[in-house]
Amino acid sequence: MPDTTRVAADARTGLIHPEAAALPDDLVQRFIAIVGQRHAICPGDEASPYLREPRGLFTGATALVLRPGTVAEVSKIMRLANETGTAIVPQGGNTGLVGGQIPDSSGASIILSLSRLDALREIDTVNNTVTVEAGMVLERLQDIAREHDRLFPLSLGAQGSCQIGGNLATNAGGTGVLAYGNSRDLCLGLELVLPSGEVLDDLRKLKKDNTGYDLKNLVVGSEGTLGVITAAVLRLYPRPKGVEVAWVGVQTPGQALDLFQLAADMAGGALTGFELMTELALDMTIDHVPGARAPLNDAAPWHVLIEISSSRSSEDANALMQGILSDGFEAGMIVDAALAMNLGQAQAFWNLREAMSEAQRHAGASIKHDISVPVSALPEFLAQAERVVDGVCPGARVACFGHMGDGNLHYNIAQPPDHDPDRFLALYPQMTQAVHDLVRSFNGSISAEHGIGQMKRHALAESTPPVALDLMRRVKVAFDPNGIMNPGKIL
Ligand SMILES: Cc1cc2nc3c(=O)[nH]c(=O)nc-3n(C[C@H](O)[C@H](O)[C@H](O)COP(=O)(O)OP(=O)(O)OC[C@H]3O[C@@H](n4cnc5c(N)ncnc54)[C@H](O)[C@@H]3O)c2cc1C
Repeated sequence: MPDTTRVAADARTGLIHPEAAALPDDLVQRFIAIVGQRHAICPGDEASPYLREPRGLFTGATALVLRPGTVAEVSKIMRLANETGTAIVPQGGNTGLVGGQIPDSSGASIILSLSRLDALREIDTVNNTVTVEAGMVLERLQDIAREHDRLFPLSLGAQGSCQIGGNLATNAGGTGVLAYGNSRDLCLGLELVLPSGEVLDDLRKLKKDNTGYDLKNLVVGSEGTLGVITAAVLRLYPRPKGVEVAWVGVQTPGQALDLFQLAADMAGGALTGFELMTELALDMTIDHVPGARAPLNDAAPWHVLIEISSSRSSEDANALMQGILSDGFEAGMIVDAALAMNLGQAQAFWNLREAMSEAQRHAGASIKHDISVPVSALPEFLAQAERVVDGVCPGARVACFGHMGDGNLHYNIAQPPDHDPDRFLALYPQMTQAVHDLVRSFNGSISAEHGIGQMKRHALAESTPPVALDLMRRVKVAFDPNGIMNPGKIL
């Protein structure tokens, strides 16, 4: 049993002191022997990047960080952990936003970092699939696909650091979901190390496979609570021959919805991005991100980014976008619009959108939500939400942005300019309860793409029917009878 009396976690830094190991020394040495001393990080400064998530909202403590280099090593680690009741917290790029990858403060857990397990195992451009190990960074996979004249369409702000294993474990969404689906839709097969150490090899490259329960789809989105993903087979797509990006100002979310319908009708599957944001979210980005510039001449209360991708030609993409903008203007849906003139400008438009989350960190306190409602209900939801927010904190400002085409918004609320940030943040539970209650009344989701982790456990319990919660608990026990996988997360 772990000797928890020796824990001395520093609540401020989340580190544990070297002399304060929470696992017996001989057990720690047995774990280290599996990966070798070079690939084990003992508590201390070197471990600190593993113990703090991007926004500093969650910190934890660990007995050890292990960086296995083979699936066999992962399997040995899990077997020993299962035998000794040692908690394992899988960690990818540590970009998760709900604290799923951060251990608790006991210092009794081991962080299992997948970073070294990052090989390309196979690319099959006829089958349009790629088999990669879990530690591959998303951006590297995008590059590999491009080098083979293919597209791997998962795309998110953290793509330079997040890993495929983390993307699958969180069922990450991002900006490509509208046309290509989320991580679950991109995954055809998985390799998973179970808590027992057994390896589930389901690395099949099949688009059709109806043989029994789909275990892979239980694991995708399970946030490291069922097993360790070590590799996956993922879908590739043909690389578009032409891409057009436009920035559009609109008066209301209702007009944005009309424009979305127009674009979807005209472009069909070629509509690959439709993002919505408030003017305030844009202004914060322009104020706080070096080099960011206003994309439009005229002000508008709401903004939309549209992306069209054509499999035929750049002329085809351009004609589609021109058609959408001219019909949108004619129908009175658009206040102002700018079509990116070249790749650099298209990237600058996307950068503006991607930088919104980071920009808000420098613009005072904000209360954040990751919600979805049916696309058709978004205007009504936004109208009611504004009243709800005002009821909790008069003067608070909505700085939301997100993937309108998926009905998913990062419904962030900025403090009133004259408020003390701490006083505003003290309203976090009350504000979140009010926003989530409204989301539930629309039959929406309180976690559209970031997952549950440790942040939303209570909200999950409130939003999920007891029958479903009970089934989830039984699934957890079937995979992980000793409860060693990422304890304190999701359930
Ligand atoms: C700037 C920024 C923008 C973002 N934008 C988006 C976005 O648009 N859409 C979106 O969905 N998310 C977004 N995120 C959240 C985050 O990037 C995703 O959740 C991402 O998928 C996490 O991957 P990761 O490798 O960093 O995983 P981590 O943060 O390391 O882990 C996340 C969870 O997965 C588990 N896990 C990790 N690897 C494995 C594995 N191999 N096996 C089993 N479990 C594992 C962990 O235990 C944890 O519960 C953003 C984050 C940032 C910082």
